Amino acid sequence: MARRLIQQANPSAHIEHFAADVAKASVAGRLKGSDYIFLAANSMRARLVVNALIHQYLIPAVQLGSKVRADEQGQVVDAFSAIRPLRPGAGCLWCNQLIDPNLLAKEAKTDAERKAQAYGVEEPNPSVISLNAVSAGHAVNDFLMDYLGLRADRPLHYQHINALTGKLQLVEPRQDVDCPECSTGGMRFARGDGVDLPCMEG
Ligand SMILES: [Zn+2]
Repeated sequence: MARRLIQQANPSAHIEHFAADVAKASVAGRLKGSDYIFLAANSMRARLVVNALIHQYLIPAVQLGSKVRADEQGQVVDAFSAIRPLRPGAGCLWCNQLIDPNLLAKEAKTDAERKAQAYGVEEPNPSVISLNAVSAGHAVNDFLMDYLGLRADRPLHYQHINALTGKLQLVEPRQDVDCPECSTGGMRFARGDGVDLPCMEG
């Protein structure tokens, strides 16, 4: 669908698409020279790898999506669209606790291993198409404003747009000065091909 829309907008556009997991080394490697990354994947491993690409290869990006939370009675207590601009050297998904080590470990297991360990009860995935449409629109606006030099001189906050209250919450990203993944003195920042990406083989 993306390819069709891009071609309609610009028939001479060069499009490469990979229907594959960004966490695989062969796929992540193709993104090293990107000018910008829209991270809209669900898995923690995708966040891990793209977070590394951003800081290792100095690529601006945005993480976008939505979150719906229900209490034990099934009452929806939170529903929001999230747009989180990510810039090299300005805090990362680790600093902001947006990569869950437990989920990351769980994703690394096979289906059989997951069953054997009987992780907590999974919630069914809610339908979030309209929430995601809000975050996608804002993320593209932010990208356009930045690349056209039109963004007002303001700090790049994370934006949470609450569908229950209609309120916009601006969250100042945290930046851990000792973060090994994104601090300038860490193991990854601006190292390019000098260190490996945290990818799966394949
Ligand atoms: Zn960090």
